[in-house]
Amino acid sequence: MSTEAATHAPADDPQLTPDGRLRHLLSLATLPRSLLEPLLERAERYLTPLGERPARDSALKGRTVANLFFEPSTRTRASFELAAHRMSADVLNLDVNMSSRTKGESVLDTILTLQAMEVDVFVVRDASAGIPAFIARNVAPHVSVLNAGEADVSHPTQALLDLLTIRRRKPPLPELRVAIVGDIAHSRVARSTAEVLHTFGVGELRLVGPPDLLPAEPLVPGAMLVDDLARGLRDADVVMALRIQRERFREMEGIPDPEQYARQYGITRERLRGAHPDAIVMHPGPMNRGVEIDGDVADGPQSAILEQVTNGVAVRMAVLATVTETLIASGSGR
Ligand code: ASP
Repeated sequence: MSTEAATHAPADDPQLTPDGRLRHLLSLATLPRSLLEPLLERAERYLTPLGERPARDSALKGRTVANLFFEPSTRTRASFELAAHRMSADVLNLDVNMSSRTKGESVLDTILTLQAMEVDVFVVRDASAGIPAFIARNVAPHVSVLNAGEADVSHPTQALLDLLTIRRRKPPLPELRVAIVGDIAHSRVARSTAEVLHTFGVGELRLVGPPDLLPAEPLVPGAMLVDDLARGLRDADVVMALRIQRERFREMEGIPDPEQYARQYGITRERLRGAHPDAIVMHPGPMNRGVEIDGDVADGPQSAILEQVTNGVAVRMAVLATVTETLIASGSGR
């Protein structure tokens, strides 16, 4: 893409300590490559060859990680939980249905209560925009906050694992054509992944979907909005399918009919032939087989979907280690 990405984080970025280290992970929009590159390299080191036992590290020994998912999650929650265990942390998973929030307690009271139990890292998913940043503004100096999915705004660890997966499988990013296909308008994955691909200088980014599911503006400078699937897939090196985010449609918006969507935009084997013959196929999950992606594509030789899942644990281990080191280096870690 032609337009340059930022090379420095803004001096007042709330994710960073005054000396520029990553303390919270809230959004990738403002984080420069120089901060993200070491994270990806660290994640690479946590990936073990197939058949070997998963990597472990004691970087979080004696620390407590609380997973607070105020919105459903399978993969991300399991991935953060395993990552924290593999980093030797104590792990607390708050059951959302039992949480005090459903009894009217404010999110801040829940956080302060858990902080009083010596939680060091909060992993937060919420359906409202701004909650992770709000929590980050209000926690004690020795505490970090990691965004595990914020409304339709951002999902930074998903984007990092997407980037890691692309980098491990394909030639250098500046040579790649990436097509993200589906409900771009409501997808936090599309937004965060577009941001990080832009920061790392992807060759071409196409945001592909029905006109009603495309945002008014491309998510990042230089990205293209394409409503013709064949054109969007043509010679693409990476094809990422997205689920229709039914839960994020506003009342006035009509949710597309799944059958019609599948007929026009589903990724089938036939349609994938229009992409580069070595293209990889990705999906953040959960998948609706037969809607945005056919089962034989999801399970086929070009699929990198399960690699994304594996890479996700490594990325989350790297993020946990990095923010913990920041707290130690800044003198506020315990
Ligand atoms: N798991 C991803 C997310 O939390 C994608 C999805 O739900 O469709 O945004």
